[in-house]
Amino acid sequence: MGAYKGIYSSIETAHCLDVNRLVSTIKGAVKASFAGKKKELTAKDVAEAVEHNLKVFSLDDQSFSFYSVPNKLGGCRWLARCPKCGSNVLKLYKPEGGDQFQCKDCHNLRSPSALYGPTRRYKEVIRPMRRMERIKEILSSSNLSEMKTKSLLDEYDKLEKSLQDSTFFRKSRLLSKE
Ligand SMILES: [Zn+2]
Repeated sequence: MGAYKGIYSSIETAHCLDVNRLVSTIKGAVKASFAGKKKELTAKDVAEAVEHNLKVFSLDDQSFSFYSVPNKLGGCRWLARCPKCGSNVLKLYKPEGGDQFQCKDCHNLRSPSALYGPTRRYKEVIRPMRRMERIKEILSSSNLSEMKTKSLLDEYDKLEKSLQDSTFFRKSRLLSKE
């Protein structure tokens, strides 16, 4: 099993089997192999070639079950079945040290922001600066009541002060000046 022991793993470091990407790679290869041939390549030919290639496809000695779902406007889209829970999904993952591709729920994969929360840079600098920009936009564009204007100005001043007080912001501002 290797290093995969945590309750949650980051989705960013896991290997991903993306069914859409796999299908479009197969389609590209089929079309390329037909280039220059006399016979016209039909949509049915491509669909059959995709189905065959998915059937024989394997990755890291693991083979997969794929299912096609017909589209309303013709054609179909493909999904892979998670070997653990049986749900049909567009992406299967294998975390670092894991022994099988499964869906992200079975592997308890989370995005980095869900695991670690917003970064300090985001909380202390980016989020307040975005809000300050937004306040400027609101103040310049609309007909606001004096009360609303005052509350926005107060909020702006407060955000500006919180930036001035942030060691993180002051340090990055100082270093960016050099
Ligand atoms: Zn699953």
